[in-house]
Amino acid sequence: KKPVIGWIGLGMMGWPMARHMVQAGYDVRVFDLKPEVSQRFAGEIGGEVAPTLEALGAASDIVVTMLPDGKAARMALIDGADNASKGMKSGAVAIDMSSSEPTGTVELGAALKEKGIALCDAPVSGGTWRAEEGSLAIMLGGGDAAALDAAEAIMGPMSRVVIRTGPLGSGHAMKCLNNYLSAIALSATNEAILVGAKFGLDPSVMIDVINVSTGRSNNTETKFKPSVLTRKFDAGFATALMTKDVGIAAGLAEAQDQDMPILKLLTGIWRDFNEAHPGSDHSASIQYWEERNGEK
Ligand code: NAD
Repeated sequence: KKPVIGWIGLGMMGWPMARHMVQAGYDVRVFDLKPEVSQRFAGEIGGEVAPTLEALGAASDIVVTMLPDGKAARMALIDGADNASKGMKSGAVAIDMSSSEPTGTVELGAALKEKGIALCDAPVSGGTWRAEEGSLAIMLGGGDAAALDAAEAIMGPMSRVVIRTGPLGSGHAMKCLNNYLSAIALSATNEAILVGAKFGLDPSVMIDVINVSTGRSNNTETKFKPSVLTRKFDAGFATALMTKDVGIAAGLAEAQDQDMPILKLLTGIWRDFNEAHPGSDHSASIQYWEERNGEK
């Protein structure tokens, strides 16, 4: 029998991911901080709106969080006045699929363990289009073998690959490091495009060349033509979230007494861009370099 799934967070990523679970035949109970979003999900996709997080926890075998960060996940699972672990049975499993800060995840795991709840971290990569397609890459961490198996068993509808990364927090550590690399590629491509454009190169031709050359990345392949060069800036991942992820990676290095100059520089750049452009999408970051150079 399929486990009942409590799904918390129906944003850019959570919505399509939860949709795949409903379409795969799971009984899904949904909750979002914005009640109108849960209502719309139940109306358009299916599943059932949970009136409270406690009720969601009580009805579910597995509770998934897909929230902005680890703080929000902790609020929803254990810290909030209404929270899921109030209702969850001993033996239930929680999976934080948000890109959270790894040491916070370890602390959250210890707090939930006292209630008999096993936590796994299972952040995802691939962006909104892979979430829509159900082909995310999932990095699965955790210390409880049965919980890991239960978590992996429900990942199929959302993912093309699940890689076990090690103990609790390892998935979240892996995720921020991946996004650090993605942010580097995006940032460096912004610079290359602007230098080339000023010299007279056509940015669209540049992307064509890069995509058959060694400078290519997921950014050049999926974001530049549709979102950056068109200036739609609609890739579907908030600047605030990318800034958070790079900051988590920098915090991890710092906590381990490592001096990582590129990571440090990148953290400052994204923090500045996020402050200057609150609410923007990360694909708008080329504006940071344009503004520095007095263009636009
Ligand atoms: P989002 O801001 O679009 O969605 C977050 C949702 O959580 C919103 O609907 C919000 O109302 C809800 N929410 C916030 N706090 C809540 C709480 N305490 N209780 C219940 N609901 C709450 O964010 P997103 O783009 O879907 O990203 C979610 C997570 O996935 C983030 O950690 C992000 O870094 C990560 N991520 C995003 C992408 C992407 O391309 N967008 C890709 C991979 C990973």
